[in-house]
Amino acid sequence: MPPTLDTALPPVAVDGRGAARLDAGHPWVYRSDVLTPPARPGFAPVVDRRGRPLGWAAVHPTSQIAVRLLHRGDAPIDEALLLARLDAALDLRVALFADAAAGMAGVTGYRCVHAEADGLPGLIVDRLGPVLVVQNGCAALEPHLAALVGRLSERLAPQGVVGRFDARTRALEGLPNEVRLLHGEIPDHVDVSDGALTWRVDPRAGQKTGAFLDQRLNHRRLAEAAAAHAGAAAGAGAPAHTGGTAGAGAPAHTGAAAHTVDTAGIDALDAFSHHGGFGLHLLLAGARSVELVDSSAAALEAAAATAARHGLPPPDLTRADAFECLRAMERESRRFGAISVDPPALAKRARDLERAMAGYKELNLRAMRLLAPGGVLGTSSCSAHLQEPEFLNVLADAAADAGRELHVLGRYGAAPDHPERLGFPESRYLKFVLLRAVD
Ligand code: SAH
Repeated sequence: MPPTLDTALPPVAVDGRGAARLDAGHPWVYRSDVLTPPARPGFAPVVDRRGRPLGWAAVHPTSQIAVRLLHRGDAPIDEALLLARLDAALDLRVALFADAAAGMAGVTGYRCVHAEADGLPGLIVDRLGPVLVVQNGCAALEPHLAALVGRLSERLAPQGVVGRFDARTRALEGLPNEVRLLHGEIPDHVDVSDGALTWRVDPRAGQKTGAFLDQRLNHRRLAEAAAAHAGAAAGAGAPAHTGGTAGAGAPAHTGAAAHTVDTAGIDALDAFSHHGGFGLHLLLAGARSVELVDSSAAALEAAAATAARHGLPPPDLTRADAFECLRAMERESRRFGAISVDPPALAKRARDLERAMAGYKELNLRAMRLLAPGGVLGTSSCSAHLQEPEFLNVLADAAADAGRELHVLGRYGAAPDHPERLGFPESRYLKFVLLRAVD
């Protein structure tokens, strides 16, 4: 039997700033605030400079995030605690499926474990149809992965579990870079549904865990806003209504019942589309055309395949740098009734923040100029280092420079299977703001 207790590490002392952070409810202490770094990665008690106990944490000698607190008590961390955390995370998903407001009906791709926000530092588990995809960026947790995968397999009975241990951040914790089968078998492709549309996803090679699941509800929000607002402004005629009544103007696409309203006058743009979640939901809502822009050919192909599978009009696919593409569209005076802008995290590190804000401003300024009167813009930032108030400031700056007046129709985060932990703003990494051009 492997030891389930890892009590060999002596207490790790943190300075006043580190202790204040933990006292304020944040789980992390940065390396510069650690007074006595551990000799190796593992679990250790954490104390302040006077020896006051602050809790137990996953600790690392060289990683920037040197301390990731698991609890504030004095009980050592053992495997039973990690398994209990996993059970709680899975119980939360069971509850979400039972909660109509969580929008999980028919969803077969969702996040089962959301790292610190589920009390398991660095650990991500996504369900993609019949399989589970695991990522881990915390060295202390690595020796316990077999037990965690065992519990996942027991409770979720997946066909297979694959370790996508190929994120660059693993090197920061000295962890090897590999893709490894952890349980069962992994087919080359799996079907993943968001409750309305189904994508074919490669769990071994797709970006991140193979799919971006966090925007699921926002895809619908943009389509619904376009139907309600942009459709009216486009002069499409009939007022929004559901049920696909003949004569409303919108083509009746397969499975479009949820959004069958009159958006037939809308041309839409999905910039940084990946699998086209925003764009395809706009087509499902009856948009006349959608242009998907992404730098990944594989992502665009998957989007086109999903459109064909559901009998939607084929989206226009543009494999390009979206920054350049938006610039060119502005020069050509293009206009769209609905736009999504969803770049990858532009601020991957805190010190990138200023440059990232300039990037978000440029993208949004151009998108705002491309909006038709009454058009809707769904704009996203998934940079954990950029908080929502700062993002809203960037958007206000962009609107001023673009010379557009905009209403904020709504502000949202990730779908609820990506829980947000109070006191840990990094878990509210995704910001999605729905805007409408006033004129
Ligand atoms: N909008 C998607 C998620 C987008 S993730 C959804 O809702 O599911 C970010 C996407 O940006 C990835 O697909 C990536 O391939 C793409 N990307 C990254 N840099 C890019 C660039 N400079 N131009 C265009 N696409 C880019």
